[in-house]
Amino acid sequence: MSQSTRRPMAAGNWKMNLTRSSARRLVDELRNLNYTLESVDILVAPPMLLVPTVVKWVSGSTVAVAAQNMHWESKGAFTGEVSAAMVREVGCTHVILGHSERRHVFGETDEWVHRKLVAALENDLVPVLCVGEKLDEREAGRTLEVVGSQLDAALEGVSSEDVLRVVVAYEPVWAIGTGKTATPSDAQEVHAFIRRHLGEGRGSETAERVRILYGGSVTPSTIAGLIVEKDIDGTLVGGASLNAETFVPIVKSSMKR
Ligand code: PEP
Repeated sequence: MSQSTRRPMAAGNWKMNLTRSSARRLVDELRNLNYTLESVDILVAPPMLLVPTVVKWVSGSTVAVAAQNMHWESKGAFTGEVSAAMVREVGCTHVILGHSERRHVFGETDEWVHRKLVAALENDLVPVLCVGEKLDEREAGRTLEVVGSQLDAALEGVSSEDVLRVVVAYEPVWAIGTGKTATPSDAQEVHAFIRRHLGEGRGSETAERVRILYGGSVTPSTIAGLIVEKDIDGTLVGGASLNAETFVPIVKSSMKR
């Protein structure tokens, strides 16, 4: 299976940003772009309260909507949380799981990420599974060990068939929102490792079909160098996904040549 069978994806994680009107302007630009760009999947992850509105706005286009988080339980006394079925019911097709801000600001554990991933798959949501090392872990030479153990924990017991439904996002924590991007070759090294690791026990054919996005301070000027790398299948973007001036060029450059 060649890399060309992995459709590139450009995903925007809006985090806790954008108002209704600024979101509308951005979505309109993405919809317009969508009609001329058939070879890249566009995904946006608005704040939860904007999700149903954005789902309506993208209707008729192939722009897809993701939740930024969800709980693994289906219902109950979990104040402030939403379930996978709720996320699906409002029209999300994807959900970001294990984002570094969830892990390191809100204390999400590998075990929680695993439970969420299983619940997402059971509810027909595509998990965008984020993994990545912190600066001290990179400096201690532990990047691959950390990323490998995050993958193992999240995907424990998940069948090869279901792993094919997962999108992995490699997001080094030290690169998120800091303006520091991994060099294309550093990112490629980790992406290749992720693909090899996914293949262990599942077969390289399965691993070859899984999309692996890079995230961490991606800008219109850094995307071109990253996307040419063999195992980089697109990008998960925070800051630069908040306005069309920066996100549209990233989407355009996310097509593999
Ligand atoms: C992110 O939040 O997933 C992200 C990559 O953010 P930024 O692009 O701002 O570093």
